[in-house]
Amino acid sequence: MTDTYTQLVNSGAGRNLARKLGLPQPAVLRRYQPGQPLVVGPVVVVGNSPAADSLATELLSWDLDVRRHAVPAEKLGAIILVLDELEHPADLEQPVLSAAGSLRDLRAGGRVITVSRPAAGVSSPAAAAARQGVDGFLRSLAKELRAGATANGVLLSDGTTTTSPSALGAIRFFLSSRSAFVDGQFLTVSSPDGALPANTDRPLEGKVAAVTGAARGIGAQIARTLHRDGAMLVLVDIPAAGDQLAAVANEVRGTALQLDISGADAGARILEHAAQRHGRLDIVVHNAGITRDKLLANMDHSRWNSVININIAAQLRINEALLAADHFRSSPRIVSVASTSGIAGNRGQTNYAASKAGVMGMVRATAPLLAASGGTINAVAPGFIETEMTARIPFAVREVARRLNSLQQGGLPADVAETIAFLASDAAGGINGEVLRVCGQNLVGA
Ligand code: NAD
Repeated sequence: MTDTYTQLVNSGAGRNLARKLGLPQPAVLRRYQPGQPLVVGPVVVVGNSPAADSLATELLSWDLDVRRHAVPAEKLGAIILVLDELEHPADLEQPVLSAAGSLRDLRAGGRVITVSRPAAGVSSPAAAAARQGVDGFLRSLAKELRAGATANGVLLSDGTTTTSPSALGAIRFFLSSRSAFVDGQFLTVSSPDGALPANTDRPLEGKVAAVTGAARGIGAQIARTLHRDGAMLVLVDIPAAGDQLAAVANEVRGTALQLDISGADAGARILEHAAQRHGRLDIVVHNAGITRDKLLANMDHSRWNSVININIAAQLRINEALLAADHFRSSPRIVSVASTSGIAGNRGQTNYAASKAGVMGMVRATAPLLAASGGTINAVAPGFIETEMTARIPFAVREVARRLNSLQQGGLPADVAETIAFLASDAAGGINGEVLRVCGQNLVGA
């Protein structure tokens, strides 16, 4: 699980050698620690609209060093382009080229964020072209940035502005080191709901969260991250993983529930356990998942069915129970773990990709049902994450797979966990039915 190459090229001799040979030079990413500054260096807000002014004023109240114009040669922490009034592709030129002039001054690990409006549903072809243009611009720019810098976009639906709580929540997430491995992605803010937490280091204070597949890997890290952010935890895993589950539960002072999520009563048992041990349930993270890879020509019933049952059918059944429950009605949050395999496809994974694409379809269709009670459901789609699972991939294949993204390295379980913690927080209350990739802008497929 150690990325020796990244360590090597960040040492003096290794750095010089990689540069001379034209080899990838993955940066050591800045990752979140409570108490660290949100951004290192000034933040330039580019754009002349009233929404750009309001955002700049809001960012000042976060104690950021905000500029409306870059000072030449001053090292920058972030550049935010507010593009909310685009009517024609020609409108892109001024803000984009203004930002271009500051790119060389962006610090290592810096951030570029666009704030614009979605193209879908716009009747003017020119306005739709301009809005869609931001998509291509941002994704290309993300591929040009180096030294751990990222570029991501916030899309404001009708009825939301740059200062809607969830727009600010998304901007804050993309600015922060919590989003270290999220690159080249857009997040749509669909309603003005949500609230920024009083304590930004403990945004889940007082919440009760259930995490499935929590005995190891990404699930165990999700539990640690939600605990650090203030949540009380119900940790779910199969009885065979009971000892590991108990160890994680002790570590995060949560309660363990040994349960196969594919059982017919799994939803009822999670609800009952949370009610008895914690008095409530606010957040459910569907993380448990399995792979049973085979080319389709060699696929058997058992491999196909076990993956579909555990990875998607169980989530559908548990969600039905959650939606019908009385004590999952106060701004509930569901976050599902999908995979970039479900977006781009992967050889040997027809069953897995069908299940993970299914998760995305489920999330989009369930979103309106949760909105009725002020709740949300979203998915994260991890790319190559450094886990026991990916450590078992043969060396050469693994080495290629982990470099095939804009950040030229694999992500960590913590990167997936940070994104889930954000989507589970009140700051994301206006983000519903979204799939956010945590893949360092994987270059393969979508
Ligand atoms: P893992 O195999 O290390 O952990 C999965 C956990 O789920 C295990 O503790 C397992 O016991 C539990 N589990 C399996 N079936 C269960 C069931 N029926 N009921 C209850 N618990 C069950 O896997 P991981 O790498 O930590 O992956 C976690 C999630 O992230 C999965 O949904 C996986 O598909 C997804 N994912 C992982 C990667 C990656 O690179 N590792 C990439 C994309 C998506």
